[in-house]
Amino acid sequence: MSTRSWAEPYKIKAVELIRMTTREQREAAIREAGYNTFLLRSEDVYIDLLTDSGVGAMSDRQWAGLMTGDEAYAGSRNFYHLRDTVEKYYSYKYMVPTHQGRGAEHILSQILISDGDYIPGNMYFTTTRLHQELAGGTFVDVIIDEAHDPLSEHPFKGNVDIEKLDALVEKVGADHIPYICVATCVNMAGGQPISLANIREVRAWCDRNNVLLVHDMTRVAENAYFIQKREDGYADKSIQEIVFEICSLTDVATMSSKKDAMVNIGGFLAMNDPDLYEKACGLVVVYEGLHTYGGMAGRDMEALAIGITESVDDDHIHARVGQVEYLGERLERAGIPIVKPIGGHAVFLDARRILPHIPQEQFPAQALAAALYLESGIRSMERGVVSAGRDKVSGENIMPKLELVRLTIPRRVYTQAHMDVTADAVIRITENAAQIQGLRFVYEPKVLRFFQATFDPVID
Ligand SMILES: *Cc1c(COP(=O)(O)O)cnc(C)c1O
Repeated sequence: MSTRSWAEPYKIKAVELIRMTTREQREAAIREAGYNTFLLRSEDVYIDLLTDSGVGAMSDRQWAGLMTGDEAYAGSRNFYHLRDTVEKYYSYKYMVPTHQGRGAEHILSQILISDGDYIPGNMYFTTTRLHQELAGGTFVDVIIDEAHDPLSEHPFKGNVDIEKLDALVEKVGADHIPYICVATCVNMAGGQPISLANIREVRAWCDRNNVLLVHDMTRVAENAYFIQKREDGYADKSIQEIVFEICSLTDVATMSSKKDAMVNIGGFLAMNDPDLYEKACGLVVVYEGLHTYGGMAGRDMEALAIGITESVDDDHIHARVGQVEYLGERLERAGIPIVKPIGGHAVFLDARRILPHIPQEQFPAQALAAALYLESGIRSMERGVVSAGRDKVSGENIMPKLELVRLTIPRRVYTQAHMDVTADAVIRITENAAQIQGLRFVYEPKVLRFFQATFDPVID
C-alpha cells in the first residue's frame, strides 16, 4: 500500500460561500421540513452530506468543456466524444445518453422485463427496484448475508451469493430471469465493493443460465479502488485497468454520471449487443430525446466525457475515498457505531445501536438525521425503514436489517476541517442520544416515500 497521504491532488480556484445558522433557525427549518432532510432548503444547510449525487465539484477542464458544447439537435460532436470515452474506459460499444441514471433504468427495464419476471441483484436500489416493478418484475436480493450485518468486516460485502442465484433458478426457472443487476460499490449496503473474483463467478453463472449481466456502474471507480487495495493480484494494476476489466465482464450498464463522473446531471445506458442498442434507440426518443443527446445538452455530454477521464485517475480516487476513510476513522476512534468496513462514498451511522430506545416503527434513522441537522446544520439522509418502503403485495412496512444514516461526501467539495466539524457534531449528538425522540408519519407518499414524506415527533 502506498504511504502517500490522501491529500487532495488539486487546488481551489473558485469558492462558494456557505452560511452557519442558529439553533433557533434550524428548529424552525426542520419543523417546516416535516423532519425530512430532503425537504430542507439548501440555504439552511451548513455542510451538505445528503448525497454525493450531482454535487461534485467540476474541474477547470470540465468547465472549459462546457464552452465547447455543440448544441446541434442531431449528431453533436460531444456525443461522439462521450461515446468514444465510454468505449475507451468502460469497454461498452454502444451508448445512449439519458437525463440521469433512472432514465437508463427505465429504458432497460421496459425492454428486458416481462410480467412475472424476477430480477436478482446485490441489494436493491430505490429507483432501480421501482423501475423493475413498474415493468412487471420482482426484485430478489442475492447479496451475501454479511452485507446485512453492519458488524461484519468482510472485505467485499457487495459480493453476490451464487447459491442464492441457483436457488432462484430452482424456484422460478432461468426463463423468468431476464438479467441480474450487479452494482459496483453497493450504495444501500454502505458503499461496499464486489470483488473481481466474484464478478467472474457471476459471469460464469450468467453464461451457464443464459442470463444477461447488467452492471449498475454508478460507483465503479470507487469499487476499483477497493479491489486495488484488497484483492490479490491487483495492487499493481491502475484504477483505469481495473475499471475496464470489471466492465468487460458485463453485457449492459446503467450509469448515473452524477456520482463517479463528477457532473451535475446526466447518465447513460451502454451495451455491446446491437439489437439491444436498436431497441434502446427506439425508446430513448420517446422518453428522453434523440439517441445522440438523450436527456443531455451537448455541453453536459462534454463535461461528462472529461469527468470520466478524471474519475479513473489513481490520485483522484485515493484522495476521494481517503477523505471518506478519514471521517469514518475519526468516528470509529470515538466509539460511534458505524458500518464496517468504511464505504467508498459515505460513512453510515448505525441508528439502531445509537438509538436503542427508538423502535424501528418510529424510524430511528430518520430521527437521527433530523437530530444531526438540528445540532449542527449538517444534512444527512435516512437509509432504513423509510427508504425501504412497503411490500408491494402485503402493503406492510419492509423492515430492513440495516437502519442507517448516511453521511455522504461530495467529490472534491469539502475540506478536512469540514470532516472534523462533522465528526464532532456526530459525537455530541450520540452523547445525548437518549433525548432524541422517534417519529411518526404525517404524510406518506405512495412511491419512493423517503423523498417527500413528512413526520412529527412521537411524544410519550
Ligand atoms: C443514484 C443511483 C442510481 C440512480 O441514478 P440517478 O442519476 O439518481 O437517477 C442508480 N443506482 C445507484 C446505485 C445509484 O446510486
